[in-house]
Amino acid sequence: MTKKKKRIDKKKLKSAYGSVISLQYGVYICGIRLSKEKRYWCPVCQIENGKKILTVKEVVRKISEDECTEKGLPSKTQKIYFVCSECERKFEIHQLRRIVPFLNQMTIVLSIGHIIINVMMFKNSFKLAGNKTYDDAVEAVMMLWENYINPIPNAWSLHDIDAHFMFDVVMRNVNFNIRFTIDKISLNRLMNRDEYRNHVFLSKYESTSDTHVNIKMLAEKPDNLEYNVLVYERGGIEDPYFIQTTEKSISVRSLCLLLFSSFHRLWVFSSDAITTA
Ligand SMILES: [Zn+2]
Repeated sequence: MTKKKKRIDKKKLKSAYGSVISLQYGVYICGIRLSKEKRYWCPVCQIENGKKILTVKEVVRKISEDECTEKGLPSKTQKIYFVCSECERKFEIHQLRRIVPFLNQMTIVLSIGHIIINVMMFKNSFKLAGNKTYDDAVEAVMMLWENYINPIPNAWSLHDIDAHFMFDVVMRNVNFNIRFTIDKISLNRLMNRDEYRNHVFLSKYESTSDTHVNIKMLAEKPDNLEYNVLVYERGGIEDPYFIQTTEKSISVRSLCLLLFSSFHRLWVFSSDAITTA
């Protein structure tokens, strides 16, 4: 029997331009919870039945106003607790940490009117997912800087005189129709041929479990590729402008191109989020 979980459909979320729908920092959440609920193995019960039975569930509860003030969190902050359905014990994240690494990053779900953007915030970079165009990413960064980050005086510091945001497209989803049917078994066989070895890094298709052929191809960015850098002079918010640079300051990663196929459709994933530094 399969259970179908009812979850929030992010595509239906509509929110006012520039508003933050949700914010999650570790186990703390403000607004709507949008991250996927996970299950964990109880460190006390440790139930096994051939494989580990995950009895610990995540439960979201509001924390007291006193705790909010004490921890410097906004009022009405909620917290994820980890409760075992067997022993009914409540765990803190560090008690589960040995088993499950918990991302200590901040996730912001931001509306820029027509779309909702997922912002993962790291120490000196953001990763923006869900952009439809390059301009969406720029708009989200401007929104975050001008309206949320810049106004908080102790929330940021500059390495340079000016605030620089470099944009780098790392994944893009392309989805288009082709007017013929793809024989997935043959495609996979073809991609695994010796003559494509220098181009195809990996091609995989298991007809019993896969719905698509997964093809990874090697790709490289040219050395002289120019990156756009959004500049705010002296960390202000007035008159931002763009400059171009060929120097990449964030870590260089090898690029992969993924090709998915199913029936008449072909998806090309060659990058999805945009990072800035
Ligand atoms: Zn337990």
